[in-house]
Amino acid sequence: MENCLFCKIIAGDIPSAKVYEDDDMLAFRDINPEAPCHVLVIPREHIGSMDEITAENSGIAAKIFAKIPEIARLGGCENGYRVISNCGADAGQTVFHLHFHILGGTKLPVTVLPKA
Ligand code: AMP
Ligand code: ZN
Repeated sequence: MENCLFCKIIAGDIPSAKVYEDDDMLAFRDINPEAPCHVLVIPREHIGSMDEITAENSGIAAKIFAKIPEIARLGGCENGYRVISNCGADAGQTVFHLHFHILGGTKLPVTVLPKA
């Protein structure tokens, strides 16, 4: 997919700090980490967001989820972690290639929503 930042990372046109890779996915450190362990996992296949997951392509999501425990530990999440996928404007998605944030390495705040 042209002009997709994460497709460019997969192609090797933009460097990344790789944590794990195989034929289906790539995991690398977030360039602007919000926790001591902040790893992004992306499918090699371009899928725009959670909104584009279908019965046909959901197998890659299953493979990613089966690998997340190993990737989290490789990334330094020793005592647990949180998995987040921002989808669309209200969630603040900024890169429109499906990705899962793995966050940990410290005790995370309980809520992602600011207190009123
Ligand atoms: P989201 O806001 O959920 O779409 O997440 C996109 C994430 O990609 C953000 O946390 C960014 O810090 C991260 N990001 C953007 N560019 C890069 C890059 N070149 N390498 C690693 N992470 C990046
Ligand atoms: Zn892409």
